[in-house]
Amino acid sequence: MTKITLSVCKAYKNSGMNRVHRKKTKKSWKHYFYDSDKEKFGTEWVSTLKALILKRKVSKKKQMVCLECGYSFYAFLKKDTEECECPNCNDNE
Ligand SMILES: [Zn+2]
Repeated sequence: MTKITLSVCKAYKNSGMNRVHRKKTKKSWKHYFYDSDKEKFGTEWVSTLKALILKRKVSKKKQMVCLECGYSFYAFLKKDTEECECPNCNDNE
């Protein structure tokens, strides 16, 4: 399973039970990801350690426009400078 990390944030696990104020209300890390095998989005609870690792490789979904053919498509980029291949141009080869 290939998970593309979209974002990692802290969230209350029992979000519906916030009326009762407890001293030790725990916040957990929630991992928002895109499953490229199943082609759908998903979430999962992760440990603090894993959250820190995931935070380093948060991907951003960006709309790209190919300068060669003008085809626009969405791509997940880990860095702003990262380049990706145009699916339209690749199909013609
Ligand atoms: Zn192209």
